[in-house]
Amino acid sequence: MSWFGRSKLPEVGTTIFTVMSRRAQALGAINLGQGFPDYDIDPRLTERVAEAMRQGHNQYAPMEGLPALRAGIARKLEAGYGLCVDPQDEITVTLGATEAIYSAIQALAGPGDEVIAFDPAYDAYEPAVRLAGARCIRLPLAPPQFRYDWDRVRDALSDRTRLILLNTPHNPTCTVASAHDLDVLAAMVAERPITVLSDEVYEHMVFDGRAHASVLAHARLRERSLAVFSFGKTLHATGVRVGYAVAPPALTAELRKVHQFNTFSIAHPLQQAIARYLEECPDTGADLPGFFQAKRDRLRAALGGCALRLPPAAGTFFQLLDFSALAPPDDVAFAERLLTEAGVASIPLSPFYAAPPPLSCVRLCIAKREATLDAAAERLGAFAQRLARAGA
Ligand code: GLN
Repeated sequence: MSWFGRSKLPEVGTTIFTVMSRRAQALGAINLGQGFPDYDIDPRLTERVAEAMRQGHNQYAPMEGLPALRAGIARKLEAGYGLCVDPQDEITVTLGATEAIYSAIQALAGPGDEVIAFDPAYDAYEPAVRLAGARCIRLPLAPPQFRYDWDRVRDALSDRTRLILLNTPHNPTCTVASAHDLDVLAAMVAERPITVLSDEVYEHMVFDGRAHASVLAHARLRERSLAVFSFGKTLHATGVRVGYAVAPPALTAELRKVHQFNTFSIAHPLQQAIARYLEECPDTGADLPGFFQAKRDRLRAALGGCALRLPPAAGTFFQLLDFSALAPPDDVAFAERLLTEAGVASIPLSPFYAAPPPLSCVRLCIAKREATLDAAAERLGAFAQRLARAGA
């Protein structure tokens, strides 16, 4: 034994994303599990990164983020949402959205505090809350449409509630919060000392003509929210690990107190490159709804007549796969069969729940080349037929 302490996260293992990616690789399966694109990034971004290193931007960047990048983010927020955000005091560049969420939770919640999250909840939320010493209250989104049950939220609020963790567009259910949802939330927290931490990394992946309802664009939520975004998602480059948090100055100041001791500052050449890229491509992100909607629709069309059904997907680069017509409601077992028998890696929803109910859906990532989606659809379709025949 080389360690004598007590685990602070005793029941936490390796994330389901890592586990499924490893297994997909070992088995040579098509990996629609962990959310990342399998196609090339814009070569102009590659060039800007190489150029930034050649030009010597290889030492620490400022702790809060490169001024040119924060200015670019402010312009992007103005173009996208009509917002006036002060890049000096309201934007912090972070190591992906995950660091922003982690640092924000450490900064804003502590022992005796409660943090509300909605199940299925992204797996990074609760461990961050517990490491902060706070308690995570998990409230279910109501299936099959995974809508907010605001009465239940109201009942769960207490004097100890410090944070509400929102995620829209929502991973893994592919739903989006409506303007009405935000109104109800704003009214509910109005007289309480509650901050909204809103994970909006899929802000540009909203389909069928919908507009993304950001907490930043909601006048009453804006003043009490910290919203988190991701260049990894927007630039199709999850490996760059550059994200940012937007919040009023007082919240930003608290976030930075943790950020500076957590990651301190973010990869300088990458920040330079993204800043220049945003200057060159001021409408970055604008093409993403069409880009991902086409992928979603391609997969949906390919599985059109299949007994594996695809519930509506309003946003994110995921798509749920409903297997209730073919197998018992055990998503972990079904994901295992998809992997080993169909050769397609997916993500079960159970790990996103504090206490998972019987589940009949797994999550697929659609941020893939057409050929990948077509090959996966073929395997899924053939597997569904085999299951249907076996059951008949
Ligand atoms: N956000 C990615 C997903 O939901 C996973 C990131 C990770 O592997 N931690 O698939």
